[in-house]
Amino acid sequence: MMLPGHLLVASAGVLVIKAPYLTGWDAIDATMLLQWSLVLVGSVLPDIDHPKSFIGRRFPVISWPLRLILGHRGQRFSLLPRGLTHSLLAIVALLVLNQSVGNPWLNWLIVGYALHLVGDFLTPSGIPLFWPLGRDIRAPLVANTNSMGEWVLSIGAFAGAVVYAF
Ligand SMILES: [Zn+2]
Repeated sequence: MMLPGHLLVASAGVLVIKAPYLTGWDAIDATMLLQWSLVLVGSVLPDIDHPKSFIGRRFPVISWPLRLILGHRGQRFSLLPRGLTHSLLAIVALLVLNQSVGNPWLNWLIVGYALHLVGDFLTPSGIPLFWPLGRDIRAPLVANTNSMGEWVLSIGAFAGAVVYAF
C-alpha cells in the first residue's frame, strides 16, 4: 500500500478507536490531534525496511542495511526470513520496549505501526504476520499497491470509519 492509503487506513483506525468519545466534530481536541499525528507517523515506520518507501528514502542509512538483513515483505533475498517489520513479533517487541520507556504517548505510534500492517494486509502480497512461521496472509478483499482499487479501499475504510464514529 502507498503512503496515502496508509494514512487513510491509519486515520480510519483512529476514528474507530476514538468512536466512544466522539460526540461530534468538536470533540476532536488538541489531545486527540496529537494522538492522531502520532498514529500517522507510526503508520509510515514499518516500511523502513524498504529504501524506496517514504520513510526509507529519508533514512537510507537505516533502510539499506535493513533491506539486506530483514528484507521487505515480498522481497526475494535477505539474511533473515524477510518481512520482520510487518509481523506481530515487531509489534510485541515495540510494546515491550515501550514498557521500559513507559511513555503512554508512544503507544499511539505503535497503534499507527499496527494499522500499517492492516493496510498491507489488504494487498495481494499480504503480510508475514506470524514471522518467522507460516506464510504471508492477506485479506479476502485486496487491492494492488498503487492502484485505483487501493484508493477505493482506503477511502472506503476512512468513510466507513467516519460514519461509524459520528
Ligand atoms: Zn508496508
